[in-house]
Amino acid sequence: MAEKMPLLNVKHLSKDYPGVGGKAVRALNDVSFSIAEGEVLGVVGESGCGKSTLGRSLLRLIEPTEGVVEYAGRDLLTLSKQEMKSIRQDMQIIFQDPFGSLNPRHRVGGILIEPLNVHRVGSRIDRRHRVAEILELVGLPAASATRYPHEFSGGQRQRIAIARSLVLNPQFLIADEAVSALDVSIQSQIINLLCGLQKRLGITLLFISHDLSVIRHISDRIAVMYLGRIVEIGAV
Ligand code: ADP
Ligand code: MG
Repeated sequence: MAEKMPLLNVKHLSKDYPGVGGKAVRALNDVSFSIAEGEVLGVVGESGCGKSTLGRSLLRLIEPTEGVVEYAGRDLLTLSKQEMKSIRQDMQIIFQDPFGSLNPRHRVGGILIEPLNVHRVGSRIDRRHRVAEILELVGLPAASATRYPHEFSGGQRQRIAIARSLVLNPQFLIADEAVSALDVSIQSQIINLLCGLQKRLGITLLFISHDLSVIRHISDRIAVMYLGRIVEIGAV
């Protein structure tokens, strides 16, 4: 049987932040790994070890200092802003705080349709259908579209954030501490939702958490980070 192609291939990735007195902080230090199509790679490590820096570097939400990020055979760090914009349709990220990341002044329908408008996907009617479809996919009633984020619980808001991340049908998703702010009982609901969607949609997932018990549930392989490096990577 043919091996699955790596979707993401990261080589010698490093990120320095400017530190006090001109001394740089190496938050990411020579990190290399790959993720196969459809695989779930968990990234675990204590707070401050560089997990978010890694996730954001992959999407160039921050610019890495050195290294290669190959996605579907293309070297992302050499792409122009415009080329990166079209790639971002395919690569999405969910953050820890669903309230901070959802615009409180917009209705949920507006929040979910925005990526479709930005990337000019389909007609106006197609876009509205897609919003209804994606709400159903994450287990929210269609009527949620006319309500505001503050009208929802933390778990429901994270469902909205997941819906937004999936509305463009991405192939690759990063979840950065996506359940860490939630009550433990709600955490498992959201993990189950993510797990189910990942399988059903065949998404490749980089799942970041400081919590090994959370990572274990969802990952095919786990990478352990310590002080900016991957110190161990392997099957669960
Ligand atoms: P994690 O997500 O694992 O908690 P981060 O990637 O957020 O870790 O941070 C890694 C290291 O980089 C930490 O020492 C943090 O203080 C530092 N760091 C993160 N963001 C910045 C920034 N914008 N400027 C300077 N240092 C930063
Ligand atoms: Mg973090």
